[in-house]
Amino acid sequence: MDKDKALSKLKKEICKLSKNFPKKNLVFADGNQDAEVMIIGEAPGKTEDKLQKPFVGRAGELLDELLKCIHLDRTKVYITNVINYRPDKNRKPKLTEINKFKKILFKHIEIIKPRLILLLGVTAATAVLNYLGPLNQIRSQWKIIKILNVNFKVLTTFHPAFLLRQSKKKKLVLKDLHKLKIELNSL
Ligand code: URA
Repeated sequence: MDKDKALSKLKKEICKLSKNFPKKNLVFADGNQDAEVMIIGEAPGKTEDKLQKPFVGRAGELLDELLKCIHLDRTKVYITNVINYRPDKNRKPKLTEINKFKKILFKHIEIIKPRLILLLGVTAATAVLNYLGPLNQIRSQWKIIKILNVNFKVLTTFHPAFLLRQSKKKKLVLKDLHKLKIELNSL
């Protein structure tokens, strides 16, 4: 099956998970579906729900700015979230929700087949790496996940929404992004 067909099939599967979310707009993905880098965030906010695109609010603007520092943009990366619907009152997704969407996310990764995955924040680290600890103890480390016998290299960093509150941490994220870029250049 080609990527377009597989992605539309996946969207239909996701729609079945919308029932516990007050906002029913599907926020699926943005960017290049043939990119070598797949970026995974948490869940859409108000602007993302309205425009039905991930990372188009303030955190998204910051993400674009940070990507620019390593000469990447949305033509060179593929962006999605663990949860594809906006949670009410911008709350953090619950572990039960993460576990439900995780199955879809793994199928999404399998379809896109990125060479590298960048996780933004702890929800993405929980979904992809089963990690439940503090983010600073896992950030900046390359991990490997295996999906249907294919290995994917995964790097975790802080979420841009966190950087909007803690701008001093930006330099750590830039360090992680340079690490990603070095790996990307060596592929
Ligand atoms: N935060 C996320 O995790 N994802 C978005 O799409 C927007 C903000």
